[in-house]
Amino acid sequence: MSKNRLVILGGGESGVGTAILAQQKGLEVFLSDNGMLRADHRETLLNHHIPFEEGGHSEERVLQADEIVKSPGIPDTTPLMQKVIEKEIRVISEIEFAGRYTAAKMICITGSNGKTTTTSLIWHILKKAGLHVGLAGNIGKSFARQVAEENYDCYVLELSSFQLEGVYDFKADIAVLLNITPDHLDRYDHNLQYYVDAKMRIIRNQKMEDAFIYWIDDPVITREIEKLQPAATCYPFGEKQTTATVGYTANNKMYINTKEHQFDMELELLALEGMHNVYNSLASGIVAKLMDISDEQLRSSLADFQGVPHRLEKVATVRGVQYINDSKATNVNSCWYALQSMRTKTVLILGGTDKGNDYREIEELVRSKVSALIFLGADNSKLHAFFDGKVETICDTSSMEDAVKTAYQLAQKGDAVLLSPCCASFDLFRNYEDRGDQFKECVRRL
Ligand code: ADP
Repeated sequence: MSKNRLVILGGGESGVGTAILAQQKGLEVFLSDNGMLRADHRETLLNHHIPFEEGGHSEERVLQADEIVKSPGIPDTTPLMQKVIEKEIRVISEIEFAGRYTAAKMICITGSNGKTTTTSLIWHILKKAGLHVGLAGNIGKSFARQVAEENYDCYVLELSSFQLEGVYDFKADIAVLLNITPDHLDRYDHNLQYYVDAKMRIIRNQKMEDAFIYWIDDPVITREIEKLQPAATCYPFGEKQTTATVGYTANNKMYINTKEHQFDMELELLALEGMHNVYNSLASGIVAKLMDISDEQLRSSLADFQGVPHRLEKVATVRGVQYINDSKATNVNSCWYALQSMRTKTVLILGGTDKGNDYREIEELVRSKVSALIFLGADNSKLHAFFDGKVETICDTSSMEDAVKTAYQLAQKGDAVLLSPCCASFDLFRNYEDRGDQFKECVRRL
């Protein structure tokens, strides 16, 4: 058996990218997927003459691997993974693997909410300033494939807890930790600490010359920092100025104050609305200043960023009612921020696959801002159990068309209709994009 046998489990974007990079680096590669591959992925593997299987794993072959790159979507509890663990085969993530083959500067973003928005915003700022910078991680073309095919000086990587679980020697030159709230607890045996530990791996291997940017108002993060004592230079940001914060707000402005840099900007000039996006802008601004982006360039990029679809996306105003698509709000905390940013009475559409939600978090905002709740899920019983009697109007719907039509009937001129579901989408939709696209389509048809 060769010492370089790499098996890739999962033939999605990251698996196929890993296969291309591994082959380019002369490893013996085999990709195995339990399900069927997407046609374009299959074609890419065939074009590159990379051996693969789909529709099931040939266990013996997989277990001969020297190292396994596992897709973040595969939990350790599958029978095959149990055997892999028993055999003590090293399992890493695509990020760890691809990180071995590039010396580019790594800017890595994690958190429970705001990763895609902040990663995209940082990329927008750096790219507009003329840097040769790649965008990867959970977004777009895989990191491994870009390492194989591009030659970027710098990467902005969105990292989920699942990707971070499989990093060992990888190091972020700049790490950003936005927040830690319960999410995906189903995958972590309902133990918040496992999830927290995975997120904190973002600072693994960092040294003093590296930067760690984090949200200081988050009690989970501050507790972990006490415990772990990060070696990196810390750049905390928060709502208010304290002796520790380098990013904060005051007098309707955001401020960045590091030893080397001072920056301020009126909050109303920021392209992204809502307090959560002020935090995302602060984190991005600190990264930009550490990357020596000029004040003018930073100001102009924070002001003209187009946002990311399905995150508080304004769809249309129909008969004086604004429709907002926040389909990506797959947990209660992101719905909280969406409601908090609403300036009018709101008809809220929520529901879907519940990941162990505690709706008490949004109860007060629902009572003060929501005129009607529309439940959109295959099973709305948990929502009823919590909200019945707390909001006057509650309707059950079972398709997006039904939900949007109901909202149209209930909303008064000047109100907003907000799709911010608190839940995953897999009961009625392919994914959150499908849910958001259907919402937009139904709104356009009104
Ligand atoms: P992620 O990639 O972490 O899922 P997104 O940028 O896709 O994050 O946003 C997901 C949801 O979280 C959206 O509904 C968005 O409005 C909300 N959100 C964005 N940034 C934050 C933040 N800093 N804190 C809390 N919620 C946020």
